[in-house]
Amino acid sequence: MSVFKSAMSQLKSAAEAMNLEPAIEEILKRPQRAIEFSLPLKMDSGETKVFEAYRVQYNNARGPYKGGIRFHPQTSLDEVKALAFWMTIKCAVVNIPYGGAKGGIKLDPKNLSWRELELLSRNYIRALRSDIGPFQDVPAPDVNTNAKIMGWMADEYGALQGKYEPAVITGKPMALGGSAGREMATGAGGFYILAEILKKLKKDPKKTTVAIQGIGNVGYWFAQAVMKAGLKIIAISDSQGAIFDKRGLGMDPDHVMETKKSKGLLAGCYCSGTVCDCKNYQSISNEKMLELPCDVLVPAALENQITDKNAGKIKAKIILELANGPVAPEADKKLNKSGTLVVPDVLANAGGVVGSYLEWVQNLYGYSWTEKEVLEKIKEKMLCALQSVWCVKETNKIDMRTAAFSLAISRIAEAIKGRGWV
Ligand code: NAD
Repeated sequence: MSVFKSAMSQLKSAAEAMNLEPAIEEILKRPQRAIEFSLPLKMDSGETKVFEAYRVQYNNARGPYKGGIRFHPQTSLDEVKALAFWMTIKCAVVNIPYGGAKGGIKLDPKNLSWRELELLSRNYIRALRSDIGPFQDVPAPDVNTNAKIMGWMADEYGALQGKYEPAVITGKPMALGGSAGREMATGAGGFYILAEILKKLKKDPKKTTVAIQGIGNVGYWFAQAVMKAGLKIIAISDSQGAIFDKRGLGMDPDHVMETKKSKGLLAGCYCSGTVCDCKNYQSISNEKMLELPCDVLVPAALENQITDKNAGKIKAKIILELANGPVAPEADKKLNKSGTLVVPDVLANAGGVVGSYLEWVQNLYGYSWTEKEVLEKIKEKMLCALQSVWCVKETNKIDMRTAAFSLAISRIAEAIKGRGWV
């Protein structure tokens, strides 16, 4: 299934709902630039392998291109184009001065050594050196990339420029100009949105059950916030399976992560342990996990997890999209019809890019904010965006995704017109 096609069908729905000028829709139907390149790498074995790589710069009407880099065996140009489009929308939903971009390398990082990963990360930046920059295009981490990798990339860019420029990349280690709170920003931001929606729906957080698909960076920090606030986590999964405890007692994200790490082998920078190593819970399949009766289902792994096939079996009342594109458009229609509230990715997971924006601002101005200051600023941005999206949704009696897209597209359209492109 083409992820970009799904993204374009979301654009079409929003364009119809807001009666968008055709010229603006034409601009938003395609990326401004899509760079597809190959990276040869001499492996530890002496053999040379060639990796496919991408950077899509979707739209920069509102500011520099912004978006993460993912390392994944299934990454493709089609997927990166969709993710870059969603970044354009997301930055406009939370009203930060960025356009949208995304990048990726097609590989399974668990099969590479530290040395191989570092060389490949540096080669990626070398290939893109004239296409990125603090006011041009600012990458960040995404699936299977982390602060360590961003550190190598920032260092490589600095070496090529002859001076270290931290604002070229976000999600860096603290010692290299990273920001306090950036690592937890997406999960924490998602939680601020959920807590506010529960308030709007007059639901008691203490009686709210949550199932989380994907306990990576985003899922873990979201689980932490959920635990602290007293909601019940009843299931957690990773790529190898899921664990379940309907009482929701004692499903402690730290315990799960520690067991995953201690039982797993370390390959490259990655833990290959699994939540299934935890003993005190019932093991279930990934498919069954998505269908559990719960109040909130949180897909925090990859795109296209809830499709036409399983949408009818979803029992959650709220779906909080922390992953990008986890609900396919046909599934979205079914869920909206059945009364499930789908909180779209372009709002729910925008805490990450707001955290990145705050890191960029600190780098440009030489500021150093505390974790508390950063999280407060993220919360303010997220709640302000939620308020605006909710207002569009209620006024026009439309679903939340269409409302978020309409709001974002109207802001992008204003910038496009202001620049005189239309
Ligand atoms: P990650 O690599 O740290 O974690 C991904 C997790 O998903 C891993 O635990 C993996 O085992 C699990 N997973 C993969 N396939 C699965 C499956 N079929 N079922 C269950 N679990 C599965 O990645 P991340 O940074 O946490 O990103 C997760 C999602 O959030 C992605 O869609 C990403 O684009 C999106 N996102 C991330 C950020 C960020 O700041 N990292 C920001 C916005 C959006």
